[in-house]
Amino acid sequence: MKMNSQNSGFANRMVVCEVLPPKIENEGLVPEKVKERLHRFKIAQDDQCVMCGMSKETRDHLFFDCHLSNLSFLRIKDWLDWKVSTTTIPKLLRWIARAKLSPFRKQVLAAALAATVYQIWHCRNVAIWNQRVCTVMVLTKRIQSDVKNRIQGVMPKKVKLIDREWFENL
Ligand SMILES: [Zn+2]
Repeated sequence: MKMNSQNSGFANRMVVCEVLPPKIENEGLVPEKVKERLHRFKIAQDDQCVMCGMSKETRDHLFFDCHLSNLSFLRIKDWLDWKVSTTTIPKLLRWIARAKLSPFRKQVLAAALAATVYQIWHCRNVAIWNQRVCTVMVLTKRIQSDVKNRIQGVMPKKVKLIDREWFENL
């Protein structure tokens, strides 16, 4: 069956959205110039970031140079009292690994980073498909809710009281 060009474009976009989820544990799996590639292959109409329309969509722009992702991540860091200035995913992961924090707190920070990446990617895909960009507030709330649910689901039995109280008050 021969697909018309519009349908094959649609199919390609579907495939690309599905095969390129951000895998934060292996930075290499997220192409550096995500939408620029789609544009080169004539899948996207342009190479601009769909969330702000102000810059080329590259991996570094999405995570976390784009003002939408940047502001959300700032709020998440405030929420968790996470005092870190670095903003690249590999450096953030390294920071968590080396931090003098309890294993539980590290677990929460890692979950927050994963949720942030996931929700930004989701927001970006929704913007492509539905032409609707989420707000900083919505994005931040989704990340917070992911972190709460995820950690509550895997809450270890042995968590220091101080950590448990900190988490419950988030
Ligand atoms: Zn942007």
